[in-house]
Amino acid sequence: MTIDATQPYDDTNIFAKILRGEIPNKTVYEDEYALAFHDIAPQAPVHILVIPKGAYVSWDDFSARASEAEIAGFVRAVGHIAREQGLVEPGYRLLANVGDHGGQEVPHLHVHLFGGQPLGPMLAR
Ligand code: AMP
Repeated sequence: MTIDATQPYDDTNIFAKILRGEIPNKTVYEDEYALAFHDIAPQAPVHILVIPKGAYVSWDDFSARASEAEIAGFVRAVGHIAREQGLVEPGYRLLANVGDHGGQEVPHLHVHLFGGQPLGPMLAR
């Protein structure tokens, strides 16, 4: 089921539980601002989710409310992970689904990082 990205943050969502350590994840990177872990149902050879540590529903919520330090820290973390995973030379794709039309299912901002093979057209045709 997709979510309404205008709703207030719901701290019972699955990524909030991961951040609190209540459910396990396969961590690939963590710092003050971001946590990155393997997607549970990968759609490419590399499929990593990068989430901010703060309570933000979506890219919209994050870009409106997060501090400069949180935004810089999160964006730098995404770049760092791509470099650390060796994805820059072959190339990779970032995706952030927002709300119903975006197909967002988990109401905590996450950026999908895909790579490891040619990824095909940007949207399903
Ligand atoms: P989205 O449709 O953009 O909200 O994507 C949600 C993503 O979260 C999907 O790719 C799911 O496979 C992934 N996901 C859901 N639960 C977990 C979990 N416990 N650990 C890792 N990934 C998850």
